[in-house]
Amino acid sequence: MLDRQSIAANDFDPSAASLLDPPLTDVQCAMREGLHRFAADVMRPAGCALDRMTAEEVVQKDSHFYATHEIYRSLGFSQAALAELPPAEAALLQSIAYEELGWGDSGLAISIGVNAMPASVARLLGANEFAERFPETKFGCWAITEPDHGSDMLDSTRQTFASNGQYGRPSCLARKVGDEIVLSGQKSAWVSNGAVAEQAVLFSLYDDGRTGIRGCVLYVPLDAKGVARGKPLEKLGQRSLPQGEIFFDEVRLPANLIAAGPDEYHDALYGTLCLANASMGSLFVGVARAAFEHALAYAHERKQGGVPIVQHQSVRSRLFGMYRKVEAARALARRVAVANATATQPALQGAIASKITATQTAFEVASEAVQIFGGAGMSREYPVEKLLRDARASMIEDGCNELLAIKGGSQLTGWERLH
Ligand SMILES: Cc1cc2nc3c(=O)[nH]c(=O)nc-3n(C[C@H](O)[C@H](O)[C@H](O)COP(=O)(O)OP(=O)(O)OC[C@H]3O[C@@H](n4cnc5c(N)ncnc54)[C@H](O)[C@@H]3O)c2cc1C
Repeated sequence: MLDRQSIAANDFDPSAASLLDPPLTDVQCAMREGLHRFAADVMRPAGCALDRMTAEEVVQKDSHFYATHEIYRSLGFSQAALAELPPAEAALLQSIAYEELGWGDSGLAISIGVNAMPASVARLLGANEFAERFPETKFGCWAITEPDHGSDMLDSTRQTFASNGQYGRPSCLARKVGDEIVLSGQKSAWVSNGAVAEQAVLFSLYDDGRTGIRGCVLYVPLDAKGVARGKPLEKLGQRSLPQGEIFFDEVRLPANLIAAGPDEYHDALYGTLCLANASMGSLFVGVARAAFEHALAYAHERKQGGVPIVQHQSVRSRLFGMYRKVEAARALARRVAVANATATQPALQGAIASKITATQTAFEVASEAVQIFGGAGMSREYPVEKLLRDARASMIEDGCNELLAIKGGSQLTGWERLH
């Protein structure tokens, strides 16, 4: 199954890109090596194969998508296990793990990551019963954005809203009716794992019949009566990640599936954005590193004028610029992961800085890698054009970077106090 897409990096020593790592413990090294092998031997070939399939083919039961998840589960690396460790240790391990998974294939890494979102959000809210009921061993998703409310839904404190904006009606509404919640409307086609998820942690507007329309976090088993899916989404990058709309037609759920009500909603979203953005930071360092390693290997391999192109000064200088960016993004991603895991109140601006830096880095480094590959960089026979497409999607995913920058700036400058 290996082809030119995976050869260069599989032969390459990953430690070359990590020379600046402080010494890792035996446990950290063992976990990294185990996940690196999985990323190299399973995720990369599967990601390349899925990238060439249609979105409908990706979600067929016999596709590499399901096989990859099955092998990942057999490795025994889980958020539940991490949650047993001291927070700083767990956060560093998590950051190292996401980098390796992102290095393997970002679409599959996101898919693995969002499986854990229902349980991770539950632990964040101190609602451990939901973590047990909605475990990461099932396909999960974080359903928040809506067709008419993409950026808006990620900003419950309205730091980015236009002062004269008309934000209209929600596309999805949960209503309290007696002892039940009735859910109607839809979430956007962009929900990661939306096409395959068995359960959702749903961030929705909520009418509790008392205090007007505000937000809530609701756990939704997606086999409930009235749930339907749209077609899996065809898209530019991260094609191994199945995405698609989820529709709710008067879905009736017990009210005890609400894990955070209107009074807790802002804090729940704040904590979730801290978690999601920091994870994106570590994961896309992996994508940037992959692009750098491919370029470094190719620069030794490809000859022009009778010598490997690495002998040309400008190629070495370009490679150094890529290396510098990868190291800087990794340093920030790990620092933010550990700092936020150990702080009384995690810093959203830190998590956003990590996400923007890593995704921008992944895009820039992948683009530089395409340049080093020359014409071959444009070809689907080689791996770097896929990395460029995958990285491009990350600058929109979990919030457009420009919108997140406004939120980060608002956090930094005490926007709440000024308004
Ligand atoms: C690969 C991928 C994975 C995703 N995964 C998930 C997921 O798991 N769950 C989920 O619910 N969603 C997911 N999304 C959706 C994602 O969060 C949204 O696409 C993103 O928040 C932007 O929303 P939008 O696409 O509706 O764009 P819009 O909100 O329509 O924005 C369009 C443009 O307008 C700008 N803009 C909009 N509002 C403002 C503002 N107030 N201030 C400044 N600029 C503004 C934006 O920056 C952007 O450039 C995913 C998206 C992608 C691409």
